[in-house]
Amino acid sequence: MLKLDLTIGEMLEILETEAVGVPARTLKRKVNLCMDSRESAKGVVFWPIKGARFDAHQFVSQMEKDGALMSVVNQTAIDPNFKMYAPVEDTTKALLKLAKGYQRLFKLKKVAITGSNGKTTTKEMTKAVLSMKYNTHATKGNFNNHIGVPMTLFQLKHSHEAAVVEMGTSGPDEIRPLSLATEPDIAVITNIGASHLERLGDLDGVFNEKINITAGLKENGTLIVNADDERLCKVKATKHYKVVTFGVRRGVVKPEKLKWTENLCADFYVGRTHFVLNVPGDHNLYDALAAIAVGQALRIPKGDIAKALAGFTSTSMRMEIKNANGFKVISDCYNANPSSTKMALQTLGNMRVEGKRIAVLGDMLELGKESGNLHKQIGALVPEMNFDMLLAVGKDAKKYVEGAKSRGMKNVQYFETVPEVISMLGEVVAEGDILLVKGSRGMHMEQVVEALLHMV
Ligand code: ATP
Ligand code: MG
Repeated sequence: MLKLDLTIGEMLEILETEAVGVPARTLKRKVNLCMDSRESAKGVVFWPIKGARFDAHQFVSQMEKDGALMSVVNQTAIDPNFKMYAPVEDTTKALLKLAKGYQRLFKLKKVAITGSNGKTTTKEMTKAVLSMKYNTHATKGNFNNHIGVPMTLFQLKHSHEAAVVEMGTSGPDEIRPLSLATEPDIAVITNIGASHLERLGDLDGVFNEKINITAGLKENGTLIVNADDERLCKVKATKHYKVVTFGVRRGVVKPEKLKWTENLCADFYVGRTHFVLNVPGDHNLYDALAAIAVGQALRIPKGDIAKALAGFTSTSMRMEIKNANGFKVISDCYNANPSSTKMALQTLGNMRVEGKRIAVLGDMLELGKESGNLHKQIGALVPEMNFDMLLAVGKDAKKYVEGAKSRGMKNVQYFETVPEVISMLGEVVAEGDILLVKGSRGMHMEQVVEALLHMV
């Protein structure tokens, strides 16, 4: 349940609908929003959502009986048993409509972040940076879709001075309504990569989707993009917004005198300010540069930005360096697609290793008809990045093997399931080795990491 600082009457005004069967005194009550019929119904406004497999409208009557004040329901789902409700065309769209009306009640700077990779990392880094000066709210975890974005906005408090909102997409025209509801002052696109190709088609399709983050951008807003990206570098300012670029090779916010620490964290200058990150790899550098650009746009002193980033450590399962018994494990099991896997391989390829470099790669899921090819390309990259061994697990993982072998790699093994690869680890891992464990969320590669950490 979410307590909104809004009465039911005000909610109905924003939704442009009228309640049926709801007593006038109820309209003066504050909204306690509930979307989950398993939660207590007492005093809530029940908000059923119709999903692909499941329609929560079936619980409206029960929630009423259990004490819900009313429900907001799809017009087409109205049942003679419903006693207290307000009809809308579509409760999913109405949620964003309410969120838009709600966020307008708060005076604060809003930053929207999208991109194929690094949204959550950039969001967390940006939150750390903005928190140096502002009381900053941000998306919790990865709640970045048509439900997560309104939830993030409903969590706003009048004490908040800034908000960072992550926006994800899995198909065409999903980002636009999120941006229109949020009305950000600043929008960030981290990169354009091969993710969700099943529904977005190709990289141009991904670009066309992500650029819609500008749809709700405020007049005179700022769009921050990665200038090292072949599509984003061509984005031009319009009458409506200006463009600020970041990048390692190109961009307004660009690292100078770049060096890498022993743990492969970036050490660099932007202007006269010295930055040292505490998270490894190129990809974290990119995410930090985006956060620096946001910080500068919102007038955070550069010294404070550097301090915030120095204190930033990785969020769980994203390129976490773990010391096991005599060897190191880089756990990057949170998710995987071709660009993030390539980045991770590169990061490890550049690290100093005493023993063997071992890649344990699970399937990258949801890649559509190009999936086989993309797995093969990543497989080919494994020997190129100086790995000594590849353990591939899953279905399309067979293609990793094919790719690696096509580049002459010999030490390659294929497993159908995670338990199979786990049962082999004892035979292959030795002192001084370093292992990269990565795969899509659905592959649960963190089980491999757990097994490695418990090896004696
Ligand atoms: P999701 O789509 O699941 O929300 P996300 O875009 O929020 O993902 P993160 O969770 O920040 O991305 O990072 C996911 C993976 O992407 C990490 O494993 C990391 O290795 C990689 N990654 C992070 N930043 C970048 C980047 N700038 N470029 C490429 N890969 C990146
Ligand atoms: Mg995310």
